[in-house]
Amino acid sequence: MSDLLTLDEYRAIADGLKIQTQSFIGGAFRPALSGQTLPTINPATGAVLAEIAACGAEDVDLAVQSAREAFEDGRWSRLHPRERKETLLRLAALMERDRRALAVLECLDSGKPIADCETIDVPETIHVLKWHAELIDKIYDQTAPVGSDVVAMVVREPIGVVGAVLPWNFPLLMLGWKLGPALAAGCSVVVKPATQTSLTALRIAELAREAGLPAGVLNVVTGSGSVVGAALGRHPDVDMVAFTGSTETGRRFLHYAAESNLKEVVLECGGKNPCIVLDDAEDLDAVADQVVSAAFWNMGENCSAGSRLIVHEKIKDELMNRVCAKAAEWRTGEPLDPSNQLGALIDSGHFAKVCSYLRQGKEAGHRLLLGGEVLGDNFVPPTIFDGVRSSDVLAREEIFGPVLAVVTVSSFEEAIAVANDSEYGLAASVFTASSRKALRAARAIRAGTVTVNCFGEGDITTPFGGYKQSGFGGRDNSIHAHDQYTELKTIWISLGDETIEG
Ligand code: NAP
Ligand code: MG
Repeated sequence: MSDLLTLDEYRAIADGLKIQTQSFIGGAFRPALSGQTLPTINPATGAVLAEIAACGAEDVDLAVQSAREAFEDGRWSRLHPRERKETLLRLAALMERDRRALAVLECLDSGKPIADCETIDVPETIHVLKWHAELIDKIYDQTAPVGSDVVAMVVREPIGVVGAVLPWNFPLLMLGWKLGPALAAGCSVVVKPATQTSLTALRIAELAREAGLPAGVLNVVTGSGSVVGAALGRHPDVDMVAFTGSTETGRRFLHYAAESNLKEVVLECGGKNPCIVLDDAEDLDAVADQVVSAAFWNMGENCSAGSRLIVHEKIKDELMNRVCAKAAEWRTGEPLDPSNQLGALIDSGHFAKVCSYLRQGKEAGHRLLLGGEVLGDNFVPPTIFDGVRSSDVLAREEIFGPVLAVVTVSSFEEAIAVANDSEYGLAASVFTASSRKALRAARAIRAGTVTVNCFGEGDITTPFGGYKQSGFGGRDNSIHAHDQYTELKTIWISLGDETIEG
């Protein structure tokens, strides 16, 4: 944190930014074939940051064609693993060189607080790319136990052309989560960033070119989801789509695949993640810190946000006093100001959606423990509603804003039942002094990640993804991420009979 600059210094960087606005296809920046553009807006001010290319299906065709050519001629897919590794490490080094500018660009484009962009989004994205780059020349294939007259090889091959359709809540990091393993595997990629947050993806494309990534291997097509995203989802020459976003849109990609070429689909979708605090939880100050981070980090615009606090009645008042005191210290305001922990919500549409949940919470008669009023357009401070039941809207729907719903329980069994009473199953946390209860809970909760005595989602070494309607088809992060970007092939070689003539 000591490395952070001042607000004025960040403003100076913002003023000097060169913003890339065209789509990136076949190694070159180009306007949409239709010539159309759409504004990308700074959520903190409402000002237009830039006009970006509003691409159409014809631009997607061009990008997929360029990705296909690159894949088939082997300029990346068959490049020596060591050279692929070195190229991706050069990209990571260029991001490191430009880390301040990337952080400021991310902050302006998404409304995320600069302190997070500087200390989490940018360094973590660099780390993710390096981790997958390092893996490239360290993964081995297999031979199968088939006897002495046959050699059966089980090899992994890059799946081909990948469409990566991204959300706006972690624009750089989600790009890294998809690009790292896809490029490491040798695939070619067409990225469709979220409309609201395309700028850092375009900048990464520029840096990838500088790092020597061959033309056509990485393409970025900007534009709306219903046009560009749908065209990728339906494209007959896209082999796989990797998606992060809402469950509703994720579901569409399964339809697109079914209606087109049965492309592989991997979905990371929403969550309504439980954070259970049992009556034997130790150090309630530390627990409160974690509960606050879980609920309010990234303005709650986080698929693994701990947005349902399930707390045992015996310790509830003690815990909530601490949670409210700590959450009240989280400052909401100008994203470029490094002393703010919450910035702006992504746009006016999403702001209206979060506001409607504030209204519904009040109308339902839940007890407002903190917040509840907006601070200005797109700015919502930490808000906590108590007295929520598991069947209430605030406990069921993904709000994707800084709104915590508190559900009170009176036993371990009830806590688990409430935790599992959701159509989602992405992440969960349990706070308890008992290792037996912790492990019982970890096994009983149907979620892709369960953290004990902390909030989190693991790191690059551990798989991330959801049970139930939180995900489909695979996992991001860890060595398992590579499975989704590769096909398994069996090569069966007969050695003939045992006699060798001559
Ligand atoms: P979204 O609509 O699911 O958007 C995710 C991506 O899919 C974006 O690139 C989007 O493009 C694209 N897309 C949208 N409609 C599409 C369609 N019909 N066909 C193909 N692609 C399409 O999510 P959102 O609009 O950004 O946010 C809506 C809600 O989703 C949020 O309020 C939140 O609850 C949830 N969400 C979850 C996550 C997560 O990480 N789990 C992330 C973001 C949002 P456009 O940007 O052009 O719409
Ligand atoms: Mg959308």
